[in-house]
Amino acid sequence: MFQMPQSLEQMNEEFGTEESCIEHLICCKWPNGFLCPRCGHTSCYRIASRRMPLFQCTSCHYQASPTSGTVMEGSRTPLCKWFVALHYMTRPSPGTSAMFLSKAIKVTYKTAWLMLHKIRYAIGLQDAETQLCGFVHVDKASYARPDLSGLFLHPREVPVFVATTSPEFEHAHAVKIKIVPKEWLSPTGIDRTSVTWFKERHVQPDATFFCTVGKYTHRTEKRALPYHKMAVSWINLTFRGLGRRHLQAYLNEFCFMIGSHLRQSNPFESIARLCGSSRTITYRNLTRPAS
Ligand SMILES: [Zn+2]
Repeated sequence: MFQMPQSLEQMNEEFGTEESCIEHLICCKWPNGFLCPRCGHTSCYRIASRRMPLFQCTSCHYQASPTSGTVMEGSRTPLCKWFVALHYMTRPSPGTSAMFLSKAIKVTYKTAWLMLHKIRYAIGLQDAETQLCGFVHVDKASYARPDLSGLFLHPREVPVFVATTSPEFEHAHAVKIKIVPKEWLSPTGIDRTSVTWFKERHVQPDATFFCTVGKYTHRTEKRALPYHKMAVSWINLTFRGLGRRHLQAYLNEFCFMIGSHLRQSNPFESIARLCGSSRTITYRNLTRPAS
């Protein structure tokens, strides 16, 4: 579709005007051409008299905007700034924080925070629909575990499952890091029974499953564990540590990026397509107290 911009200059060349960004978003939203969201018809009239064009279905006359049904729906931030945010988010390292983005694209911290979380929400929706396949290797780990915290779970500690697939399944080579829900924890952390929860939710039924939880395993056999260490380093470097509230969204972002790298796919194109095909979330819903 389009190449990953290697630099901000290249980014500005290809995505420098609102018109070019609208055209790119249309490609992301309808990669195979117009598809009416109401009746599924594939032909339309383009109404170009407004700044943002409308597409009117020739069958049911429904009018669709390029941003409707996308992460950018309802946003007053120019699309140029959204695409720059995608560029920064998908650069190889170290990712982007809301503080950095707010200065880079000249928006408030709250706007930058919301943009990044809307993108993470799209990543989370896709992650929830994708199960690991092939040979799946699962280890346990903990986020924010203080040293010398003893045998029992520390109040700040967040137990996670970290899983990876075998590189032979190149097209689906992926990593998942999932916080274990509190109802699946024992006083000492992750126990063997909680593996069932992870497997049912995140692994295809016909996958070959190998789990080190509850087994004596040499460190070198914990194949997924290095990804957890990479995720923690990335979080500490980019965000200076995180609380539990939105941690899963950041872990999903890390897994999306590392998965793109493992599959040698273009993360900018992948994330732009994702944002062009995912529903959005409001600030209110993002900050609603966890139930
Ligand atoms: Zn229609």
